[in-house]
Amino acid sequence: MQWADVLATRSSRMKASEIRELLKLLDQPDIISFAGGIPDPALFPAEAFRDGFAAALEGGAAAGALQYSVSEGYRPLRDWLARHMTAIGVPCGAENILITSGSQQALDYLGKLMLSPGDTALVTWPTYLGALGAFNAYEPRYDRLDPKGNRPADDIAAAARDAGGRVKFAYLSADFANPTGETLDLTGREALLDLAGALDCAVIEDGAYQALRFDGTPVPPILALDIARTGSIEAARTIYCGSFSKTLAPGLRVGWVCAAKEVIGRLVLMKQAADLHSSTVNQIVTHRVAEALFDSHTATLRATYGARRDHMLAALAREMPEGVRWQRPEGGMFVWLTLPQGMDGATLLARSLETERVAFVPGRAFFADGSNANSLRLSFSCASEAMIDEGIGRLGRLIRAEMGKAAA
Ligand code: PMP
Repeated sequence: MQWADVLATRSSRMKASEIRELLKLLDQPDIISFAGGIPDPALFPAEAFRDGFAAALEGGAAAGALQYSVSEGYRPLRDWLARHMTAIGVPCGAENILITSGSQQALDYLGKLMLSPGDTALVTWPTYLGALGAFNAYEPRYDRLDPKGNRPADDIAAAARDAGGRVKFAYLSADFANPTGETLDLTGREALLDLAGALDCAVIEDGAYQALRFDGTPVPPILALDIARTGSIEAARTIYCGSFSKTLAPGLRVGWVCAAKEVIGRLVLMKQAADLHSSTVNQIVTHRVAEALFDSHTATLRATYGARRDHMLAALAREMPEGVRWQRPEGGMFVWLTLPQGMDGATLLARSLETERVAFVPGRAFFADGSNANSLRLSFSCASEAMIDEGIGRLGRLIRAEMGKAAA
């Protein structure tokens, strides 16, 4: 069988994720890994989940928990999420919430809903790799979203037309982005809404890390600013994707979309076609656990991850040679390193795994155009202080040696 002959054109753009391939290598016990970007499993509220599953499956409750359920999602969880979104500045009701199997599924559905081949998706340079993976299947063209840059909307629209489509949406992670850890400030968010207005396109706001702010002043979600302009979520162009993966547990695969009813209604049809609904029992238990401890648990996460960030920043300041740059993220899981021009993150990783046994993610994978090879992503979420001291020390030594070679 020549499988290549029976594949759709879209499959040619679906490539193995560099991160997933890399994660396979990390089982080796002597590797110090800053690659993952996953929550620390030691912090999972496992006992609350054990109790929650026991209650959900006890006696008569089991019949409902194990049965098919509605595509929109478990109503008490949607009610909880409507209150949660309202609390973070987005007034809405349960009818504005769809439960998805992780926010990754929402990205896939939004690509499916909006992108025809050749349409333009605006993404930041760099952007979340999984978003590119989700959108790629719908054969878009990518253009650079720079909310603070002043590229005129007319130029962006004209380039999209020349490519045979139009700009359908701008996608970004506004809080503690993956991979850069950066947060878009209020001015940037307003400028983004201006740009989306001029292009008459949607905004996809990825809020995966929103609850993980360690310090600084919270910036309202883009959806909140959009509602302030338009008067109602029903008139807003912004679609917010949320997730319990970084706050409770990713293995449950529970995420959500918060948007105008019209958008939710269309996404429900996607869900019916794709998987009917997300796991009933997982939604029921997520609701119980969120109700019991979301606030206290996220406070613990913020304190723990915040201390790890501080430790990593201190180690970087101590160990990195002149010419390596990074910023201080106010939350999330990542620090983004820019290496001196000419140095390549992927080459550095290969050397590092060979000689220093330290892992990270090379930056190029996060750029839709494959540019900016001289960057890398470090995650502090699963790193102990000892790991950070040792790992960043080794990495600093390696980068210094590579710079020495380049200069020689
Ligand atoms: N968005 C961002 C920015 C992410 O980093 C991730 C996971 N790494 C996701 C979405 C998807 O997460 P999930 O499907 O587990 O909600």
